[in-house]
Amino acid sequence: MKLTFNPYNLKSELELHEQSMIKEVVKITNVNSDVYRGCKYLAELVIIMNGEPATIFVGFKDNYPGSLPLFFDLNDSFGRIPHKEKDGFICFTRSEAIVIDKRYPVSLLLNCLENVIELIAKGISGENHEDFQLEFEAYWCHIVKGKIYGAIDTDNYNVREINLWCETSESNFTIVASEKNIKNTEVIMNTLFHIDIYQEEKFRCIYIPLKHGTSILPPAAEEEWDYSFVKNIFSKHITKKSKQKFQRIVRRKGNSTKKLEFIIFGLPLSNENTALFAYVMPGTGIDYLHPLVQKPKNVNLIPLMVERWHPNYLLNRTGGNTEVADKHVAIVGVGSVGSEIATRFAKSGVQHITVIDNDILEMDNVYRHALGNDSVYARNEDNQLINVPKVLALEKEIRRKYPFTQVTSLPKSFVELWEEGSINWKDYDLLVIAIGLANQEMDINEKMHSMKQPPPTIYAWNEPLGIGGHSLITLNNEKKGCYQCLFKPMEGKTSHNRSSFTKPNQDFSKDLTGCGSIYVPYSFLDSEKTAMLVVENSLKLLTGKLQDNPLLSWKGDDSQLKSEGFATSHRYSFGDQELQNTQLLYKDPECPVCSMKG
Ligand SMILES: [Zn+2]
Repeated sequence: MKLTFNPYNLKSELELHEQSMIKEVVKITNVNSDVYRGCKYLAELVIIMNGEPATIFVGFKDNYPGSLPLFFDLNDSFGRIPHKEKDGFICFTRSEAIVIDKRYPVSLLLNCLENVIELIAKGISGENHEDFQLEFEAYWCHIVKGKIYGAIDTDNYNVREINLWCETSESNFTIVASEKNIKNTEVIMNTLFHIDIYQEEKFRCIYIPLKHGTSILPPAAEEEWDYSFVKNIFSKHITKKSKQKFQRIVRRKGNSTKKLEFIIFGLPLSNENTALFAYVMPGTGIDYLHPLVQKPKNVNLIPLMVERWHPNYLLNRTGGNTEVADKHVAIVGVGSVGSEIATRFAKSGVQHITVIDNDILEMDNVYRHALGNDSVYARNEDNQLINVPKVLALEKEIRRKYPFTQVTSLPKSFVELWEEGSINWKDYDLLVIAIGLANQEMDINEKMHSMKQPPPTIYAWNEPLGIGGHSLITLNNEKKGCYQCLFKPMEGKTSHNRSSFTKPNQDFSKDLTGCGSIYVPYSFLDSEKTAMLVVENSLKLLTGKLQDNPLLSWKGDDSQLKSEGFATSHRYSFGDQELQNTQLLYKDPECPVCSMKG
């Protein structure tokens, strides 16, 4: 085993190994590490490529073998091949794909070189020609002169106009663009890019999706596509229908060409993604005549890249779920558990959320609530300091963090709304009840079961002192199994919640200030765990992946509960498997609410 490696002595290091890949090593002196991506040590290697000797350069950073060796085709021996960048650097792997074992620096070098030779061979034979296309944007970004922050729905294959604004100041400019069907554009632009679109100049931007199967080699380093090349892309690679659509847009009344015209091309890739590339060019100055149709006198095409922020793209990229985007979820009770549930729904991509609660936010709530200290107070019209209703503060917070989600806040109780009859509960795809008070929730349960077509309704609550939390699914295309079932009377005794992990008839409530501020002791962690349980299963339910009305629980540690002299229930002794096997057994065949006999 060898622990030291001196790249200056690469030749002798190699001689200690049995290898046939590297035929010769020539050390390069006076290396400027800025030119070679941070490599201080550079050597020219003679290798065999397709039976012929060829040269390639290897560079090592100071911390080698703590980082991978870098390879360069400095003599341009291999021509234009995929994964070779402007400076000859060969991107042979994403660095996380090769495990670095610092104990074997020479093996690491040989291992990487083997990958590089294989990649170059594929490039020369044309086997990975497809990669040019797949990496289109990576090449494109080397030649661009600017950037559009664009929300483009690449699943829409129609030629169409995109809203585009350009904010210019003395030293810089910001270009933002978005699909016309994105709601609240002005708020979103302000939240995301700190731009007031009413203050900025608007330009015409046309999105042009190219035909499926279009093959365009990305521009090489320093290559500039001229007007006729770009026009050729436009005339050769779009459908007849797209061309007609383009003409209709250009001829639209009141849509005369401004001093600048923006176009964004969408290039469909074989992996179902779309590469985006854009241009800005001077307009023709003539109404209804687009510079892509009529060559203007002064042709100055400026290539731009598109930095994407369409919600579908952002969600797909981060494992979110675009399937639930059009779902509407209502959360009743946005205290500790409900507020965490609401923000998590927004985070998971649900774009319609209604929050219902008639309570105000207080400082006492903050350390176990999704909202922070800054959300507690506001000034009213008389400049009085007032507590903000929880739903209003939550709406503001969700809009700030996830501006694509529409939030409706109703500062009323469920019963008030029910009695007003102002809500059509059937409009929701899911109702989550997170009030945490059994009597109120039993009442809601009864009301929901009295409806003709009730939406699926989930109840969520915490247990005290970190022992656990629960989520009960009801009305999930199945009437039997409801919140009332949990309170089945046992041998004439007072009913208690049978899902509980604590023994019945223990009082956990605490009172800190002695003025009636009673609360049940659980922490923000408990609320977050319960919220995760609820949202995870809600997403399954909303996408049809959860059947029946199971009782779902997470089980926590019992040490705090025990240390305070309380006892656990029999159900707490269940393991995960047992909890899962019994998740439908809570159903009460005699239940007055959900049973046929009731
Ligand atoms: Zn029931």
